[in-house]
Amino acid sequence: MTNLNSLQWIDGAWVPGTDRFASINPADGSIVGHAAEGGRAEAEAAIAAAHAAFHRPDWAQNPRLRQAVLLGWANRLDAEAEDLARLLTLENGKAIAQSRGEIAGAISEIRYYGGLARHVPGHVLEVEPGVLSTMLREPAGVAALIIPWNAPAVLLARAIGPALACGCTVVVKPAAQTTLLTAAFLRALSEVPGLPRGVCNMVSETGHAAAARLVDSPLVDVVSFTGSTATGKRIMVAAADTMKKLSLELGGKSCCVVFPDADPAETAARIATAATIISGQQCTAARRVLVHASAFDAMKTHLRAALAAMTVGNGLDPAIRMGPLIDRPARDQVQTQVERAFDTCDEVLLRGGVPTDSPAAASFLTPSLVAHDDPSAFFCQDEIFGPFLVLERFETEAEAVAKANNTVFGLSASVWTRDGARALRMARALRNGTVWINDHNRLFAEAETGGYRQSGLGRLHGYDAFADFTELKHICQTVGTIG
Ligand code: NAD
Repeated sequence: MTNLNSLQWIDGAWVPGTDRFASINPADGSIVGHAAEGGRAEAEAAIAAAHAAFHRPDWAQNPRLRQAVLLGWANRLDAEAEDLARLLTLENGKAIAQSRGEIAGAISEIRYYGGLARHVPGHVLEVEPGVLSTMLREPAGVAALIIPWNAPAVLLARAIGPALACGCTVVVKPAAQTTLLTAAFLRALSEVPGLPRGVCNMVSETGHAAAARLVDSPLVDVVSFTGSTATGKRIMVAAADTMKKLSLELGGKSCCVVFPDADPAETAARIATAATIISGQQCTAARRVLVHASAFDAMKTHLRAALAAMTVGNGLDPAIRMGPLIDRPARDQVQTQVERAFDTCDEVLLRGGVPTDSPAAASFLTPSLVAHDDPSAFFCQDEIFGPFLVLERFETEAEAVAKANNTVFGLSASVWTRDGARALRMARALRNGTVWINDHNRLFAEAETGGYRQSGLGRLHGYDAFADFTELKHICQTVGTIG
């Protein structure tokens, strides 16, 4: 299965690019394989193929075929799951247990949308006597899917699943760092019998020329982008001229709000896990921990201990809970931000850094924890995409809500308490697309996720993801009445 020299998939053929680039293992700097270097020309060809495929009825108007293809794809991925998990850890660095969970989640998501492919209903109204308004839910057209490196399997599945299920055709543009994993996933799709040529395409690149063309091409109808808020804003501007539908899943700064009735040791252990998932490179990772003043000192002790105990190393070792960051530039940027925070915070509780025994070309960074009272500090406001947590204090529910909502983001949050009414009261008040109660980072194929405010537009996962990839057409017909 694992094709360590990936090509691009355009109009049914796997083709090379103008050059190729290396995929680097962030745990040791070794080369995992090579991927085809594409650009604007490849994007144009892929868009043209997807456009032609959309305008043939054999995909966009054939839900039973779409279901068969999605379910066939899931079965093929299942057969390769362990190899895919290893490849994910090699390219991304995450702990192998997280990779296995992600591959299983991606397959489950493709099956979920395979099931839904035959149920994309509109509705019909009799608006006046003898006048029928049919509201037909149609696929929106060609969807460009720009997928990041942090969870490349499940974030591909949650975008391509609804896009293909409802009858769109797609062009996938993976992040350079995880192109081999995306290509391996799509290679399995390309082998499913019955998939029409041009329905799914993939272009790869180290730069952004192909991605930029996907965003401004008049033949692309939807852009589904998962990535940073800064790039999301650039995409919004670039997509304005052609008035595309935008599905934007952007950055976050998740707060965990901890009340004194939550067990401090257990809560700290679970928040430490939530903060270091994918080495802190998950959009929903725990970033700020707001703790009631009466439990503050206990949480300090337990959280520092839980983070300090995190095993950091090569993700292929099953004893390791935290792998490296995605690459050296990302590691260096996070380290710089964390060191700036050390200089200005109220108290450094755990001073993370580069482990002394890590290979020279690796990108490891151990977790850090600071305490700080002023939520306007840059490290309470900016998304720092790595293993860095801030502990803050509150006295009342109202103060906790005000502090937690003091952010431009609105992706996710969690509330930790044994008081059920308080948990729901807080969940209602927190301005986020997802709020967990006594939990963090749980995402399901069935449950819509997305951002409030600058965390994005639209929803992926769940049935409502179809809204991002469909148009609702009004067909009006006067049929008259009898008698
Ligand atoms: P990023 O913003 O750097 O995105 C990189 C991708 O954007 C690449 O594929 C690149 O080719 C493309 N790109 C760059 N400039 C472009 C342009 N002008 N036009 C079109 N495409 C362009 O993000 P990243 O660092 O790869 O990912 C990390 C970010 O993703 C974090 O902010 C994280 O919170 C966010 N994220 C969000 C979610 C979510 O569900 N909300 C999930 C995962 C990650």
